[in-house]
Amino acid sequence: MQKYINAHCHLQNFNNVAQVLQNAEFVGISGFISDAASVNDWEKLLELKKKYENVHVGIGIHPWYINEYSESVLEYMRNILKNNPDIMVGEIGLDKYKADIKKQESIFETQLGLACEFNRSVHIHCVGAWDRILRILKSRKLNGLPIMLMHSFSGSKEILTRLIKDYDAFFSFSATVVNAPGKRLIDCVKEVPLDKILIESDEESPLIILDVIKKIAEIKSVPIKKITEIIYENSKRVLKNGQIT
Ligand SMILES: [Zn+2]
Repeated sequence: MQKYINAHCHLQNFNNVAQVLQNAEFVGISGFISDAASVNDWEKLLELKKKYENVHVGIGIHPWYINEYSESVLEYMRNILKNNPDIMVGEIGLDKYKADIKKQESIFETQLGLACEFNRSVHIHCVGAWDRILRILKSRKLNGLPIMLMHSFSGSKEILTRLIKDYDAFFSFSATVVNAPGKRLIDCVKEVPLDKILIESDEESPLIILDVIKKIAEIKSVPIKKITEIIYENSKRVLKNGQIT
């Protein structure tokens, strides 16, 4: 059976995680990256990670939850990362349509700093603020940046090209590719090199990634078996920077 890794989801939001994992395993989804949004997710994720060895986790504060940020929360995050070499940073980022973009920027920068310091892959959420993300990335030393995963990418082809060229970034595609892909998204899927693609379910059932991979194979005219193998290897590269072997 072919194997899949779900590169971005929020398992902590499901009531019956054991059942969700069992259903996923049945179709070959053998690994998960479950990311935090709120600080309240962190403990739940640590528990899940302890309980299931195929659940890998990222902690961080999503731009919608920046009000939870404080110096002590930052210390807490630093301690978790320090004590758990396999924990990644995510999801963090910017959302132009949410309040206080300046504060979002500074909290994103701080969390990105932790990812650099501990060399953990970082999972980035960005809506309508790529110019700001690019400016922040540029301000950091290139060799200090860890592996970056742009989750449910919604930028332009030009931004995608730049993120690959300058930062060797990865991109995970979600159900948006299946449900309502605009021309811009389809162009991005066409453009992105095979060794940079991952797949994710985000808020939906993990099983959706089978449809996502089918659609990507179709857009890129690559046999589904081949693309599945490549994406699996790409996912392992992202996990490795979370020090997972
Ligand atoms: Zn998410």
